[in-house]
This record gives sequence, C-alpha cells and structure tokens, in this order.
Amino acid sequence: MSSNTLEAFLSPQLAELKEKGLYNEINSLQGSNEATIKIAGKNFINLSSNNYLGFATEPRLKKAAIDATEKYGVGAGAVRTINGTMDIHDELEKAIAKFKHTEAAIAFQSGFNCNMGAISAVMSKKDAILSDELNHASIIDGCRLSGAKIIRVKHQDMDDLREKAKEATTSGQYEKVMYIADGVFSMDGDVANIPEIVKIAEEFGLITYIDDAHGSGVMGAGAGTVKHFGLSDKIDFQIGTLSKAVGVVGGYVAGSQQLIDWLKVRARPFLFSTSLTPASAAACIEAIRIMSEEPEKIEKLWENGHYLKEGLSKLGFNIGNSETPITPCIIGDENLTQKFSARLYEEGVYAKSIVFPTVPLGTGRIRNMPTALHTKEMLDDVIAIYEKVGRELGVI
Ligand SMILES: *Cc1c(COP(=O)(O)O)cnc(C)c1O
Repeated sequence: MSSNTLEAFLSPQLAELKEKGLYNEINSLQGSNEATIKIAGKNFINLSSNNYLGFATEPRLKKAAIDATEKYGVGAGAVRTINGTMDIHDELEKAIAKFKHTEAAIAFQSGFNCNMGAISAVMSKKDAILSDELNHASIIDGCRLSGAKIIRVKHQDMDDLREKAKEATTSGQYEKVMYIADGVFSMDGDVANIPEIVKIAEEFGLITYIDDAHGSGVMGAGAGTVKHFGLSDKIDFQIGTLSKAVGVVGGYVAGSQQLIDWLKVRARPFLFSTSLTPASAAACIEAIRIMSEEPEKIEKLWENGHYLKEGLSKLGFNIGNSETPITPCIIGDENLTQKFSARLYEEGVYAKSIVFPTVPLGTGRIRNMPTALHTKEMLDDVIAIYEKVGRELGVI
C-alpha cells in the first residue's frame, strides 16, 4: 500500500490516461520475438520488432551465449572499472572498433545508457548542443543531463543547422558546440545527411555525434550510416546499439582512442553500473562476425523492405519518405490510426500505431518493421490484410 500522497498523485493520473485511451496495455509474448509471435494464444505476423536480421534467435548467437555462460558465469560481478571487465568485454570492444572502422570503442549496458553517459562525459553547462528536433528520447535525456544549452534544429534542415551553428559558435557564450542527430530516424526511416553535417561541422568546429541505433546492421553493409557515406573518420561519436540488428542488448561508442580513453574514466554508467553479462558480450561478438561474413542477411532485410513498401504504395497508402526498411504507413487522424492498428491485430498482423506526441499531430501512422526473417508469403498476407482494412476504413 503506497502512501496517501502518492495515491493522490497516481490515481487521477492513471484514470485520466485510461479514460483518454492513452494508457498503454503491454502485450506479453509467449515465446521468442521472431517473424511471427504468439500473444494470448494467438499467432501474429510480427511487424514491430527491431530484430532486423533475426539475430535474437540465431542459433550461433545462442550457442555463443551458452558457452560464455559456462565459462564466465551469468554475471560480470562488478562494474567495468572495478573488476567487471572480462577479456570477452575487451574482445567485444575490439570487434566493434574494427567493424566500425574506428580506432577504439566502448560498450555500455544499453543504447539508452550509452547516451546518458557519453554526452555528459564531454559536454557541460559551459557548452551548447545543437539537436535535431526528432532525436530519440535517450539523446534528449542525455543532453539534459549534461547541463549544456540545448538548441533545437529543424528536422534534417541543413540551412537551419548552419545558421544556428554560426550563431552558437560566434556568440562567445559557449566553450564547445556539438551537433547530435540520429543516423536513421526511427519514426520515418529517413537518413541523416552525413556529408552536409561533416561540411558544416568543419566550417564551424562542431563536435559531431551520430546515434546510429537503427542504422547499425542495416546501412553501410552493417557498419552503419557514417560508413555508408565513407566518412568514418569525420564523425567524432558513432553511437550504436547492440539491442536492435545485433539482436542482443547493449550500446557502444566508436571513435578515436583518446575519446574512448576519456569515456572509460568519465561516462557514469560505465563507472557505476555492472557490465554487460558475459553471454551478451559473446553473442554480440558472434553477431558482428556473422554480419561481416554473411552480407546476404542484410540484403534480405532490404529486399523485404522494398517488397513491403512497393506493395503498400501500389495500393495507394502513403508510406512517407523512408530510405531504409522502416516502413511507416501514414494514416493521419489519431483515432483512425488506432482503429487501423486494432483491425490489423484482429486480422493477425502485429504492427503498432504511433501517434502524437511521438510524431506530429495529424501524422498518425502504423510503423512496419520488416526483418530478414519474413518470407514473401508473410509479406503477401500482410499486404492483403492492409488492403482489406484500408478499404474497410476508407483509407484507400
Ligand atoms: C533504440 C534507440 C536507443 C536505445 O537503445 P537500447 O539499446 O534499446 O537502449 C538509443 N538511440 C536511438 C536512436 C534508438 O533508436
């Protein structure tokens, strides 16, 4: 039983959310997160995971995790800086750096954690951060934690970036100015304009920070968006997650040796939160190996992305401007979007609706995440169900 003060706060808040239909009921999976999933005894075609390459259930990753558990145990036993660094963590960081074409890398327990630690290790209240307005929540929180002045930049608007970079760097108010953006924006699937960002950063002396959570394992033959543009040595911080395409859990920064040395003594989640489990580290190493050696998995992901996009677009759906396998289907009205998603669910397709405030008002959408595991037959079923629901609800 919580205190009366807490109850008085929680009860009306929860009631209001439920009344407005904004209370998110969580569906638990009865089994693994693959191309099909089971919820409450019913099977669905799954279009909501970030398990882009199917690595979450890849047998070779499972084996690596089991073997590492046998050798090292289930937990690392301490934070990295006391004695929770095992040789398998070092090996993982070397593998990441090699894969990302950087001098060094540091692994964190999650991508979220990584943004909490990395930004505030370098930026402080004497500094300013130029931040794309659609950046991920963990970037926003990481920026806030640093205490730096946060200057919002219009989404992917390079003129706005140039103008604000000029203003911030010539004002004399800040010691350092950083620009932060997602490499691939998760709601629209559009790709950061890395060449232009590099140009502007060089012009104004900006520190650059690209969070490539949705680009790693997807863009640049797996090595990410920065590599895709051949600019690996021009971006200071390359952030990635080990939780999406890599299929496990964790996050990392890849960059210069000096940057990584600094983060290892200053990034607070690295210093004060227990390291990745040995099983996770081992599975991630295996994932990176497979990504480098078997490009066909990434090719299949892109093929499926193109197939789904083409199918939905031919039916007359608005699929936005995605440049990656992320396939938004923009419905518009919030209520209609929710209804659409609920009808897909009834028909056996699990695809989440995303509405305001996650995306701008009036741009409610269903976000479809095809993976390398989906078969053509599954995608054909999805397209047929979209057609049925789309006509029924007057969207097409
Ligand atoms: C998903 C995501 C994260 C969080 O990564 P986790 O490893 O799941 O904590 C961070 N940044 C961006 C841009 C993301 O899309």
